Amino acid sequence: MKFGGSSVRNGERITNVTQLVEQWSKENQLVIVTSAMDSTTDDLFGMAERAKRGERSDDYLEEIQKKHHAALLSAIKDPAIREKVHDEVSKLISELRTALTGIAILKELTPRSLDYITSFGERMIVPILSGSLESVGLRVKYFTGGEAGILTDESFGEATPLMEITKHRVKKTLSPLLEENITPVVTGFNGVTQHGEISTIGRGGSDYTAMILGSSLDVDEILIWSDVDGIMTADPRIIHGAKVIKQLSYDEAAEMAIMGARGMHPRALEPAKDGSIPVRIKNSFNPQAEGTLISKELRIHTGEVAKAIASINDLAMISLSGMSMVGKPGMAGEIFGILARGKVNIIMISQSISESNITLMVKKSQLPKALSSLQLALLGKGTVREITFEDDVSVMSIVGAGMKGAPGVAAKLFGVVAEHDINVRMIAQGSSELNISFVVKERDSAEATRIIHERFNMVK
Ligand code: ASP
Ligand code: MG
Repeated sequence: MKFGGSSVRNGERITNVTQLVEQWSKENQLVIVTSAMDSTTDDLFGMAERAKRGERSDDYLEEIQKKHHAALLSAIKDPAIREKVHDEVSKLISELRTALTGIAILKELTPRSLDYITSFGERMIVPILSGSLESVGLRVKYFTGGEAGILTDESFGEATPLMEITKHRVKKTLSPLLEENITPVVTGFNGVTQHGEISTIGRGGSDYTAMILGSSLDVDEILIWSDVDGIMTADPRIIHGAKVIKQLSYDEAAEMAIMGARGMHPRALEPAKDGSIPVRIKNSFNPQAEGTLISKELRIHTGEVAKAIASINDLAMISLSGMSMVGKPGMAGEIFGILARGKVNIIMISQSISESNITLMVKKSQLPKALSSLQLALLGKGTVREITFEDDVSVMSIVGAGMKGAPGVAAKLFGVVAEHDINVRMIAQGSSELNISFVVKERDSAEATRIIHERFNMVK
């Protein structure tokens, strides 16, 4: 079971989690994974950035300490356990303070130290949740991801678990505890490198942690507890009638995760898919709701081509054009290489058959970096004549296995959009045919969502 940041937001929520674990542990052996409390990870990133500029973060640290102390005071009923956990959290806070001071003195923040700093969120919540579970009589033991056995490479910030050795280590560490009816409680989001340094596996990575542990232990089911009833047909803030999707295949769910429909780590589902382990998304605020099941099965109902629509904002579109790009081999490679060296992630790509332009989507936050790298490297050299951008665009994406091999989906989609005078700026479809993505002006994205949701009959 993995609990997200809002499920452990404060003492009351942690008590609620404790009750859920208590109930479920009556009939199951459980491993618990938790994210950092609420926005703690964002706060840690902020503090690290300030330290890099030589600034102190005393008030932020104070605030974090207060939040965690208040939570443990309310969630841990047993005074002796409470005191032990209080000391543990205080110790972590002072380690964090020392690390931040070091960074502030040197004004240097390496990816490795950033991972060390951002790992504290999960490391502080785990003793608190464990204490709360212990005080209702459960036998628990808590671990960092690395202690539990997750070994990663050294791409700090976005580290990749080394699955074979990880599986072996996790089994060795956690299986004996399960046999003895002890519930392991593990920090999400982090692992350890071969040199014993703490690494993090990417934002939203606690889901990934749960899937890594679940597949290592070959569990019956991985339960992701969040604060929504499941994966929805559309953003319920835009579509009031949006519905929970009962079941999705791994590939469909992965497309939706990538599209930000639920903010799941894009690689999270890989280990579960490899081991064919069912994943269920449930709401810790509404545990009776059935949730969404993600499994091997591919269910396509008649007449259902697309199951969901999602949109992502905060993106920018860059177009590169020039007649001399036509028929020039290596042009795309050069462009992608320039962006890769600038550490700019490309979200979507399209090129027209005329080859006289290439269009790319990047995150808005990466736009300045992307533009300056491209301009420096390409302009004035004769091939690329013009580099333009638009930073008020959204990517819309419809997802569903029913689109595969179904002719006319694109025609219907763009027909519907055109009827409402919404201009489509760019289109891409992967050869998986599980997803069609297109770009519109940001101001049109809510309307596009509404009409597509309705006309593709996603509410059934
Ligand atoms: N706490 C981490 C983050 O905010 C990991 C997670 O929430 O899954 O990205
Ligand atoms: Mg989170």
